[in-house]
Amino acid sequence: MDGRKRNPEAVAEAIRQAQTIAVVSHISPDGDTVGCATAMRLGLIALGKDVTLFCDGKVPDIMSSLPGADQFRIPDEKDGPFDLMLSVDVSDVQRLGRCEALRKVSRMTAQIDHHPTNPLFMDINSVDGDAPAACLMIREQLRVLGVPMTKEIAECLYTGISTDTGNFAFASTNSECFRVMSELMEAGLPLAELNRVLFRVKPREQVKLIGKALESLTYRGNGKIAVMTLTLKDFEACGAKNEHADTVVNYGLDTVGTELALLAREEKDGIVKFSLRAKEPHRVDEVAKAFGGGGHPQASGITMEGTLETTVGKVLDAMIRNAEQESIKAKDSQ
Ligand code: 5GP
Ligand code: MN
Repeated sequence: MDGRKRNPEAVAEAIRQAQTIAVVSHISPDGDTVGCATAMRLGLIALGKDVTLFCDGKVPDIMSSLPGADQFRIPDEKDGPFDLMLSVDVSDVQRLGRCEALRKVSRMTAQIDHHPTNPLFMDINSVDGDAPAACLMIREQLRVLGVPMTKEIAECLYTGISTDTGNFAFASTNSECFRVMSELMEAGLPLAELNRVLFRVKPREQVKLIGKALESLTYRGNGKIAVMTLTLKDFEACGAKNEHADTVVNYGLDTVGTELALLAREEKDGIVKFSLRAKEPHRVDEVAKAFGGGGHPQASGITMEGTLETTVGKVLDAMIRNAEQESIKAKDSQ
C-alpha cells in the first residue's frame, strides 16, 4: 500500500537511541490511543527510558483504572527538549491538538498508526492502514524491542484491540487480534472484568443521553440513513459528558434496513462533531474527508464549525449523494 506499512525496526532504532521520550495520544482520546500510550509507557519504563505521556483531552472515565491513565498531561512551554516524540493512533497533525507543540522541542519524531488516511507526518512513520487497532502494532513494537508481556501491558493492549474492533465484531477483526489475545490471556488478562467495564456498565447520565439521541432519530435517504442529533442542552439535561455519546451512533446503524448512520452533536458552542458509520460495502471516509475529517472506511468523524442547523444538512446531502454514486458504480460493475 503506497509506502504505508509497519516499520517497527525503524521505530525501535529511534527508541534505542533516545532517553527522554514523549508519547502522545490523539484529541478526544479513545481506547486505542490510550491503550497504545499506556502500554508503550510500561514498555519504555521496562527499557529504562524517561517517559512522559501527553494528550490534549481527558481520558474517558471507563479507562481511568489502566496503569498510567492518570499520567497524561497537556504540554506547556516548560516541556522538553525530548530525544523522541512518539505519537500513537494519531491520524493527522490536527489530531495532535495542542501536543503539536512537542514536535518543535523533539530531536526526532516517530509515529505508530493504523489510519489509511494518515499523511505520514512524522520523521519515522510506522503506519499500517490494514491493522484493526494500533494496539496490535504496539504489541509487535514491544516484541521487536524485547519487552516481556505483563498483565498490566495486556490490560492496556486489550483496551485498544477490543474497543477498535467493536469488541471483536467489526469486519476489520482478523486472526492477528486473536493471536495477540491468546498472548494477553496467557499473561493473566482479567477479561470478564475489563469487558464489563468497557462495554456493559454505563453511568445513568449516559443511559439518559442514549434516550435523547433515540428521541431524535429519523431515517433519511430513502430510509437507509439513520440520523441522530444531540444538543448542548441535551448533554446538560442528562448531566452527560462528550464521551458518553461515543457509541450512540450504533443504535442508528443497527436498525433493520439502515445502511448508513450519522450522529451530530454540539461539542461546544459553534463546534459540531459528527460520527459517521457505514455497513459494508458502503463507506463514509470520503465524505468525512470532504469536510476536513477522516477515519476508516466504515467509521469516520468530522469536527466542523457551525451549528446543527448549518452543518447537518450539508453532511447528510453528501452522504446521500455518495450512496447514490456507490449504487450507480455497483450497477455499472454488474
Ligand atoms: P468517532 O465517530 O468514533 O469519534 O470516530 C470514528 C473515526 O473517525 C475514528 O477512527 C477517528 O480517528 C476518526 N475521527 C473522528 N473525529 C474526527 C475528526 O474530527 N477528524 C478526523 N480527521 N478524524 C476523526
Ligand atoms: Mn485506533
